[in-house]
Amino acid sequence: MRPRRRDRLPMLLDALGQQEGHSAHGRLLEALGGAPVAADERLVGEPAHTSRRLRFASGAEVVLRDATVASVVLHTRATTFAPRGVDLRDWLPGTSHDATLDEIAKGVHARPRFGGPYAYFAREERFVRCRFEGRWSEPGHLVELAVTLAEPGRACQPDDDFCGTCGDLLVRADGVDVAGGVDVADGVEVTAGVDVDATVDALTAARDAQLLREGRSVVPLADLRLLHSSGLMERVESHLECTSCRRTSCLTLYREAAPTFVHLTYDEAMRRPLEAIPPVEQWGDAARVAAAADAMRYVDHRPGSWFLAEHESGWYFESRYNRSRMVDGSCLIRLDPSEVEGYRAGGREYLTLLAGRIDDSQPWTDESHYGRRHLALTAEPEAARLRADFEAAVANHRWTAQQRQAQHRRLGPSA
Ligand SMILES: [Zn+2]
Repeated sequence: MRPRRRDRLPMLLDALGQQEGHSAHGRLLEALGGAPVAADERLVGEPAHTSRRLRFASGAEVVLRDATVASVVLHTRATTFAPRGVDLRDWLPGTSHDATLDEIAKGVHARPRFGGPYAYFAREERFVRCRFEGRWSEPGHLVELAVTLAEPGRACQPDDDFCGTCGDLLVRADGVDVAGGVDVADGVEVTAGVDVDATVDALTAARDAQLLREGRSVVPLADLRLLHSSGLMERVESHLECTSCRRTSCLTLYREAAPTFVHLTYDEAMRRPLEAIPPVEQWGDAARVAAAADAMRYVDHRPGSWFLAEHESGWYFESRYNRSRMVDGSCLIRLDPSEVEGYRAGGREYLTLLAGRIDDSQPWTDESHYGRRHLALTAEPEAARLRADFEAAVANHRWTAQQRQAQHRRLGPSA
């Protein structure tokens, strides 16, 4: 006779946040099948925390951060460490390994939310997370059910500390990789910090192998050390998004503090404070300044209205227009000779008037002389490259402007 099915989910939730050695932790290990078949441990980030992963023949996996249970993952399919997946019926009544999201919602007694690649349920500041490969409304696509302290989509998941793509890119200053190089003083782990050169090399290699995507609004990885040593910025920061777990690895060099290396969700990365990058002539070496001379260069902008960039092929002007109260867009044109003349004579005021004329012309219609010049629509063979160059030239300024506007909205017009 099969043992009676029990709802053991509360026991998993109770184990979250418990220190190793606590009775809830002991009950958890027992329920997962006794001793783990594999255990690995690493230091993560700088400032560092330790992350330990225990894997069980039952198909379960526990991640402890600084000796505290941070997530428990139940794999429903065979893995490298378990010949079969977990039998979900033992954990959540009314479900099975091929449960749909609806069936899980009934078992958890909550409504699903969505964050990152997960559907999840909130249970008193803890989260039940599920991942499907394929449609969650049809049976057979569930690959894991997990409990976690980190809200999916809002915080990086503890098990991502072991991401095979981005989990090993930080190199520590003593030349020892992330698994070593730890001293313990008064019970607190002291690391020797980030080896900036080696970490930049590791990030660059992973980016070039297309394992990471470099964020364009922040400091390019190639400029990070030059900008830092110029002392012109309080903090310089590069962002690289992992193509596997989607976390952003964020390396920051401070004028007056030790470097940090943290993992962020996309939203957290977008909210990082960011300074405008000074003109390259102020900090670049000869080679960097020469490279910039060939590149499109940000010149000026008016918040919420227009951006201007310059290139040897001409002046490029992007202006926002309002199609209706709900819909707006932007139009990117190369200034014609009379407009360049107008800008030379009238400066910013001329460009603001020009933006008004573009808006009035309804640039989304065929009748608009400006709309027909929009680089997204012209047949010019170089248009796509020019649009990309323009975006690269203004990205940092666009982001800092958006952050200032968001701060203005939060603090009110007097700020
Ligand atoms: Zn990753």
